[in-house]
Amino acid sequence: MSIKSVAREVFPDPRPLIGAGRIPVTGGSTYDHVYAATGEPTVSVPMAGPDDVDTAIATARAAAPVWRATPANEKRRLLWDLARAVEKNADELTAVQIAENGTPRANASYYPPLVVDGLEYYAGWPDKLVGNVNPVWPAPALDYDILEPHGVVVIIIPWNSPLYSLGSVVAPALAAGNTVVVKPPELTPFTSLRFAELALEVGFPPGVVNIVPGGGEVGARLVEHRDVDMIHFTGSGPTATRILTSAAKTLTPVGLELGGKSPNLIFADADLDKASAAAVQYCMQLSGQGCLNGSRVLIEDSVFDDVLERVLTHVAAIRIGDPEDASTSFGPVINATAADRIVALIERARSESGGKVVAGGSRMGGEFEGGYYIEPTVVADVDPRSEVAQEEIFGPVLSLLRFTSDEEALALANDSRYGLAAYVQTSDVTRATRFADQLESGMVWVNGTGGLTPSIPFGGSKDSGVGRLGGRSGLELFSRVKNVWIGR
Ligand code: NAD
Repeated sequence: MSIKSVAREVFPDPRPLIGAGRIPVTGGSTYDHVYAATGEPTVSVPMAGPDDVDTAIATARAAAPVWRATPANEKRRLLWDLARAVEKNADELTAVQIAENGTPRANASYYPPLVVDGLEYYAGWPDKLVGNVNPVWPAPALDYDILEPHGVVVIIIPWNSPLYSLGSVVAPALAAGNTVVVKPPELTPFTSLRFAELALEVGFPPGVVNIVPGGGEVGARLVEHRDVDMIHFTGSGPTATRILTSAAKTLTPVGLELGGKSPNLIFADADLDKASAAAVQYCMQLSGQGCLNGSRVLIEDSVFDDVLERVLTHVAAIRIGDPEDASTSFGPVINATAADRIVALIERARSESGGKVVAGGSRMGGEFEGGYYIEPTVVADVDPRSEVAQEEIFGPVLSLLRFTSDEEALALANDSRYGLAAYVQTSDVTRATRFADQLESGMVWVNGTGGLTPSIPFGGSKDSGVGRLGGRSGLELFSRVKNVWIGR
């Protein structure tokens, strides 16, 4: 069996979508997209040039008063209709995701319903956005708050789950009344472009959703633009630093969804079967390329060997294969650079950090040779301060550490500059609530995960981000409060 080539017809027109439709690019470079599962070149992506960036922002600026003045019930209807359009085109969007970054079908087909859920959830908000009426003194007066949109929001997303990253940010931004200019990476511009096309088809005013594919230089031009009211960035810490430095010059507010090295704590009283299966799934999903992945598993010493054995059984059962195949649960990483970086890191874990590579560890050959497949890898007994225990690898590498007491478990879990999610597996409710209080992370999930429901605040602490998507928090992120005082 060899991995099938991807059909070129799957890819939507890759040109930027600004205003009412696609525009020819002016002066940008091109990116030759490669299918991650085979390494084959697919289509050429024309990246937005500087003038295209300016046009996108001017277009979003012109549409801002139109969208802001659109009645709340009409915003609700449009967001709801966009949910229906995503639902109707879910198969196509699944195929596009597989083609754009090699996400296996089982994962790719999970995202359109999540995006539908988020759009439906936020469709319910525009008609409920109310501010407070505030008590004031000494003179009698009416004092109230208006929640108003920022205006033009630049949204920068990464390549690892591009449809979900787009939907989870765009839905609250639009519900709060903003217009958006989205920059997907040159690696994965396709789902964003199709999403914006659907928005136009259901009747969103032109200019409310604009897409400018491109790399770092396009992102840099967007974030330094004076006519941008807010930036929302999902991606890595080093890029976030560059964006904050640039935004400091224009005093533009920034929301950040960044990386993680999420700990997964397994106590001896947990359901070890479930906990071991979950430990593998939380780390290996998307071939380790997920911000939420529980890549650091801390195991109580008394059950370490037992859990390790179960983990290895689950790793051996992972279905590595063709992303198109519905039974595949594990596909390639994004590109050759990522594959080389991950393999080098595993080598350093082995040679410099004293970690025992007890499963995987190599780039895969044979039928997987052309693509960027790395074996699901487990490194046991890693030094807690070593690179493999501290750095976000963004690849299929599970680090196992041991602890002997609750205090040690907490100290190890919090010994990270990241703070996105933390997972706790225990049957002791007192311990669960104590850890929920003391773990330094934006989200704590006990005996399972709750993360992607749109009503739940989602985001990180420490170096994992600023601001929360989801729920009312998502609307507040994309709104600002104006206070009105009227003397009587
Ligand atoms: P990245 O930081 O390299 O790139 C992210 C985006 O920023 C891309 O669109 C890129 O083109 C753009 N960019 C690059 N340089 C820029 C600049 N100077 N100015 C403006 N934009 C610029 O990250 P990546 O490798 O694409 O994504 C992986 C990272 O994203 C991981 O750290 C992962 O954990 C994180 N992530 C976080 C979440 C979350 O919700 N917290 C979700 C998904 C991914």
